[in-house]
Amino acid sequence: MLLSNASLPLPLNQEGKEVNYVGRFAPSPTGPLHFGSLITAVASYCEAHAHQGSWLVRIEDTDIPRIYPGSEAHILRAIDAFEFDPDTDIIFQKDRLDIYEDVIQQLHAQGLVYACQCTRKMLGSNHIYQGTCRDLQLDLAHQAIRVKVSDQVIQFTDPIQGTHQSNLKFDLGDFVLKRRDGIINYQLAVVVDDHLQGITHVVRGADLLDNTERQIWLGQLLGYAPLQYMHLPLAMNDQGQKLSKQNMAEALDLSQPSQLLQRALKALHQPEVELDRPARMLQQAVAQWSSTYIPHQTMLEGIYT
Ligand code: GLU
Repeated sequence: MLLSNASLPLPLNQEGKEVNYVGRFAPSPTGPLHFGSLITAVASYCEAHAHQGSWLVRIEDTDIPRIYPGSEAHILRAIDAFEFDPDTDIIFQKDRLDIYEDVIQQLHAQGLVYACQCTRKMLGSNHIYQGTCRDLQLDLAHQAIRVKVSDQVIQFTDPIQGTHQSNLKFDLGDFVLKRRDGIINYQLAVVVDDHLQGITHVVRGADLLDNTERQIWLGQLLGYAPLQYMHLPLAMNDQGQKLSKQNMAEALDLSQPSQLLQRALKALHQPEVELDRPARMLQQAVAQWSSTYIPHQTMLEGIYT
């Protein structure tokens, strides 16, 4: 369905075998990695390796205006400092814009997307798009591109968060795949790359839970294989807010990787791992790992940072 040169080689695990589980860590360089990002990296890594799978890193940097100077370099240094050793080369979405454009053209040829000229002001406080531009047949150039949704419920079961569902039309509305300023939206790039990288399991923060139905829908429209999703409870700061780049969560101190790993595993309620070099701690963490220990919540109780 997609250009053959767009496909990436399927990863092998550390014994060089083909795998049934491919996981990933996909940070956006909109700020340096913080303790919440480390929890996601550790959980996705341990889940993949505990399933004898492979684990990839992908930098989600399509939103150029939001890239925070130096954060991409910090992410790459962190991957090294924690000795995560991804199973394929790290890919950068900003190098893959032609692939996302091709997918938009493919969806357009099938009548599944349309150009939208509504400004933020016109949309006002109405967060669910009412389809104003759906039938206007506007030229795609220099407009936002939206994908059509139908009056349909999408439901998925998450081993931590339970069953989650949305009615696409009434809860979400036609959503943006490409912004008017030409930026490819996260929703499109994440779905395309999860497919092209052969990802089978997504482990990420519960702040992304509400995006999942949109991504499942888009994957269905594109004929992609379904994925399994696990959304982790989020770490909080001392004011009870989730750690995020927006509320200035502290950058991970890369001179203390072993201590931080120990704390991340504790936050995930995993058995204790002795201080050692990070690769050996990760090995022990994988051997002891069980996702069933992770609290079934959207926020972690207690401050772990
Ligand atoms: N790039 C997204 C972020 O940093 C995560 C994407 C995902 O895991 O699906 O928030």
